[in-house]
Amino acid sequence: MRYSKTITGLTGGGSDGWDIYRKARRMQRDGTEVTMLTIGEHDIRTDAQILDALHRFAHAGHTGYTTFDGEPELKDRIATRLSERTGVPTTPANVLIVPGGQGGLFAAHHAICDPGDTALYIDPYYTTYPGTIRTVGAIPLAIEARPRHGFQPQPEDIARAADAAGNARSLLVNTPNNPTGVVYTRKTLEGIAEICTDKGLWLLSDEVYDTQVWNGDHLSPRALPGMAERTLVIGSMSKSHAMTGSRVGWVVGPEEAIAHMANLATHTTYGISGYIQHAAAFALDLGPAFEEQIAEPFRRRRDLVMAQMEGQNAARPIPADGAMYVMVDIRSTGLSGEAFADGLLDRHHVAVMPGESFGQAAAGHVRVALTVADDLLVAAVARLVELAAELAAQHAEPAQ
Ligand code: PMP
Repeated sequence: MRYSKTITGLTGGGSDGWDIYRKARRMQRDGTEVTMLTIGEHDIRTDAQILDALHRFAHAGHTGYTTFDGEPELKDRIATRLSERTGVPTTPANVLIVPGGQGGLFAAHHAICDPGDTALYIDPYYTTYPGTIRTVGAIPLAIEARPRHGFQPQPEDIARAADAAGNARSLLVNTPNNPTGVVYTRKTLEGIAEICTDKGLWLLSDEVYDTQVWNGDHLSPRALPGMAERTLVIGSMSKSHAMTGSRVGWVVGPEEAIAHMANLATHTTYGISGYIQHAAAFALDLGPAFEEQIAEPFRRRRDLVMAQMEGQNAARPIPADGAMYVMVDIRSTGLSGEAFADGLLDRHHVAVMPGESFGQAAAGHVRVALTVADDLLVAAVARLVELAAELAAQHAEPAQ
């Protein structure tokens, strides 16, 4: 049978960058103990208080169809949260409830791009970005944020890409960043805001890691002068509240954009489960102390890993200021991230993600997810450093 070009072209062909992950899972199934530092998911489950709330709201009758754009109670909480956190006046009419940040990325691109338009995004990137853009029939165009710039995107590169494309409609950014753990500086975000304004671009700001910032506060580009009218913020309960499986997130933006996306929701999701939305509102009411408790292990492990890697140069960590990852530069070994990750898995049964899984800019790097218990993480990182040192020494002095 024939399938649509949109669906068959979604992944862009070639490797999807998950070969190492699949190999590690196979090894686990065959009985090998593998330390998995691959996926961005907490090593705890959703908190019992939130599970109780899910149960309570389900029994209270929130099991039927809901309003397509989201339950007023949850929209209200998100509006208040964003007003307080960013200083930008935000009302429930600026909020759409979606099935996780991923649902938000999908809705936002559908609201903005036509087939054939160019949608810009920053490389290294979260793996679904180009495919999400292709769901609209738009053309994904990556702009590299390079290691020598500390993985901060350079506004002039964005301007050049927008000019070259001629029909760029949007720019997608993500801070705190997956995969690099880098938090964009105010200067970077101001530069981005200026380019978006100059070139007439929408800014899509993926802020799903906004509660995981290790130095200073999260800065949302929507709060920069003139940006609220051209920014769609994508948020989620997944990372902040360890609710990945509940699939609840939001898009915040101008009323008109939200009204269009509500119309899309009517024709796609048909709304998000009511008891999940009410439990999400309950979870938000647990306040910042709860969110800090969820984020704390990643801050602690980030400090552990950064300290552990001091005093050697073979495996160089990129200073991670947020999110649940540390990106490590292993170019001293002369290997690609893929070859190094493969060797680490074979030799030491430690699985990390090759930088190349996230685009070209992170080639020669590996991403370490801080998502296992401290002692396991420290043992795994010791193996990683040991292997990098050995390979770097071989690379520096090739065998005769
Ligand atoms: N954006 C980024 C940068 C992510 O890392 C993820 C999940 N890993 C998502 C969006 C999607 O998260 P969810 O749909 O669970 O909210």
